[in-house]
Amino acid sequence: MTRRDRNQAYGHASVDVVSDELGAKIGARTLELIDIASPSRGEQAICEHVTRLLAEGQVNVEELGDSCLVAGTRTRADRPFVLLAGHLDTVPAQGNIPGSADSTVVRGLGASDMKGSLAVMIELALAGVGTADADRKVDFGFLFFSREELPASESSLTPLLEADGGLRGADLAVVMEPTGNVVQAGCLGHCLASWHFSGRSGHSARPWLAENAIEKLGDGIVAIAALEPVDHQFDGLTFREVISLTTVSAGIASNVIPGEATASLSYRFPPGMSLEDAEARLRAICEPFGTIVIESSSPSGAVRVDSPAAQRLIAITGEPIEPKQAWTPVAEFDGVGVAALNFGPGQPSAAHAVDEHVELDALASSYSALARLALEGF
Ligand SMILES: [Zn+2]
Repeated sequence: MTRRDRNQAYGHASVDVVSDELGAKIGARTLELIDIASPSRGEQAICEHVTRLLAEGQVNVEELGDSCLVAGTRTRADRPFVLLAGHLDTVPAQGNIPGSADSTVVRGLGASDMKGSLAVMIELALAGVGTADADRKVDFGFLFFSREELPASESSLTPLLEADGGLRGADLAVVMEPTGNVVQAGCLGHCLASWHFSGRSGHSARPWLAENAIEKLGDGIVAIAALEPVDHQFDGLTFREVISLTTVSAGIASNVIPGEATASLSYRFPPGMSLEDAEARLRAICEPFGTIVIESSSPSGAVRVDSPAAQRLIAITGEPIEPKQAWTPVAEFDGVGVAALNFGPGQPSAAHAVDEHVELDALASSYSALARLALEGF
């Protein structure tokens, strides 16, 4: 979309100037957040910073411990309650802190995933959108949490949601993962497994007396490399089931036939497939070659976009919904019974990239879409 198209789609036919100012303001906030390093397990400084910003802006805010905080509404009252959710952590730096900005784009670690989103949330809260605004049709809660970029078993979000019935009363959770301002529904499940191959070690001059585990690993690699992605339809959206080898290790010396070899597998499975079925499927494919040990697994997140809140946000974006071809905290909300979808300003292709960036226009559009949801309701 051009900016003019987008302004029209988001209901701002005459706001080129306002949109530029808004984008610049949220961009400056994004850059400020990028420059506060927050790798997973190192989110305390940014948590304190965001809490202080919101408190100084007279926003109702509380630190929840474990580098998490919530602002705005915490429990459903008379108005519909929409929770905006963003993770404070990033993947490790790749020489991309501090960030930089020009008149159209902010660059740096987490720009897309998801400090641009955090900046949108902060500016909405500071402007009173969904909180102090007397005309609002929707109450917004703003949930900032830690350790999302680690295996889901380490996420702070699930324990937080399990302990807080108020937050579980949300009509909709908007997980602000990078989607390019399109609603992306559901999410893949993710199973991380180690794959063990056993042989018998021996002298490399007499390999017939040994059993080479690397050759067994090789058979497994060939089998995985031959797999094609499998498309699954779930509620009209196509999710791709894929298995990838991500690490291999074997061998202790150049004159020893190795008796052990290990690989790591990342298995992405679609909504509608249970954890148990996914693990069974992985074993069925892999165990003819070596033994599977499940290291961590996270369920998929169902496509839940039939609520009035979700339908309204989709209508505001003016774009058809897409499937989320990744794991996201949508699964954690789904797991405690809260309908959730993905919607955020970053481009998925920029996430975790060394030249991670987000466009100021996209930040302004994201803000405007959520502001419309709060002011117009559903
Ligand atoms: Zn993310």
